[in-house]
Formats: sequence, structure tokens, C-alpha cells
Amino acid sequence: MTAVLLVDLGAVFFEINGETHRARLDRVPADGQQVQTLCGAIAKVEYREPVRPIVGQPIPWCRRCNHLHEVDIAAGGPRQVAPRRPPTPHPRHEMRRQLGTGSSS
Ligand SMILES: [Zn+2]
Repeated sequence: MTAVLLVDLGAVFFEINGETHRARLDRVPADGQQVQTLCGAIAKVEYREPVRPIVGQPIPWCRRCNHLHEVDIAAGGPRQVAPRRPPTPHPRHEMRRQLGTGSSS
């Protein structure tokens, strides 16, 4: 049995020097991947266990990220992030397409 981890990209935040930033994401960034926040900060992602309780605690938001997020929401939601490259079909799916079997997974 597999438990699939589902992540709401709208609820992914980045803590940089004690401030919590937002970013427009098209996928969950990998450990070590570089991200750019709405306010323009660029940093490498590092996954960590929380070192302090975070649920129910005030969030030290970056004011610029929060403002830009509110602008996105007022404009009808966060703008879609263009994919970094066109999606590549999985080789198994491509082989099935070529064979005309058409079933997935
Ligand atoms: Zn920010």
C-alpha cells in the first residue's frame, strides 16, 4: 500500500532569515533546488523538521510577498507559472500510445 503525499502548492512557504515568504510554484521544489520568492529573494530549498512549534503561532510574513500575494488574489488568483519545459510523457505511456493500447497506469 502506498500513501501518496498531497501538497497544496498554495500552502507552501519558505522561511528565509526568520521571515516567511511566498512563491508561485508549479510543483513542489526538490531539496537543493533554487526558488525565487514573490519579493525576489532567491534561495536553495532545504527540507527540515520544524525546530519549534509552528501550528497556532503567528507567522512572520514578508510584507512584500504578502502584498504581492494579495494582488494576485485580487486579480483572480495566483498567476500560473509557466512550466520550465514541456512535460515529457513517461516512456511507458509513450510506448502504449505508439502501440495504440491507450490504457494508462
Ligand atoms: Zn518575501
